[in-house]
Amino acid sequence: MEERATEVRDLLATGTAALAEMLTVGPPELEALLVADDDWLEAPREGERPYPPGLPYLTGAVRPPALVLPETLSSAFRPRTSATWPLVVWHELAHAFLLQRSVPRTPAWLRELLPQALAAAVARRTGLLDGHLARIDAKPGFTVRGLKGPAGPGEQMSFQNLLLRLGAAALEEFGEGFLRRLAHALWDEDEAVGEERAEELLADSLGPGGREWLERRPEF
Ligand SMILES: [Zn+2]
Repeated sequence: MEERATEVRDLLATGTAALAEMLTVGPPELEALLVADDDWLEAPREGERPYPPGLPYLTGAVRPPALVLPETLSSAFRPRTSATWPLVVWHELAHAFLLQRSVPRTPAWLRELLPQALAAAVARRTGLLDGHLARIDAKPGFTVRGLKGPAGPGEQMSFQNLLLRLGAAALEEFGEGFLRRLAHALWDEDEAVGEERAEELLADSLGPGGREWLERRPEF
């Protein structure tokens, strides 16, 4: 898997430089493990139970914490373009950046929006984003705030794609600055963030006109 590992190393280098600049924080201490499919059960994780194959994750079960990446990405990841794998790597890397400070409990849509928007921002800088967005299926039948309770893999992917689209639209409209404002606003919260507060934090981070813009977005 040497070629694959070289690619991962390059993606992590690009992502780390871009995310550190966007968030104005240093990079997290992190090890990346590219795991062959046959070795998946032996990958470090919390608890005994093996994780579903093909899904990348972060774990604090080893020192330094590890970003565990599968040799074969789960077929649940859609659409498949040249941006699919980079977006997955940058999404997990963005979680690792955000977890350097304590992050309060938030609604699922806000917790996942920031890594998706950060991954979108890195892909946008590298010119990979537009072609990928164009291949996302039109309408999942819910909004990012409307998905309630645990979702199956298909719904989960539609949810992440809606967040990616919302993040990309926000980048076009407001630029990259809202990513830093939103991350720092979350780090500054010391209590669990409810639905209303979550919407307020996002709208304020976007800047003037943010609330009105959000209310017009079909994904929201
Ligand atoms: Zn995530």
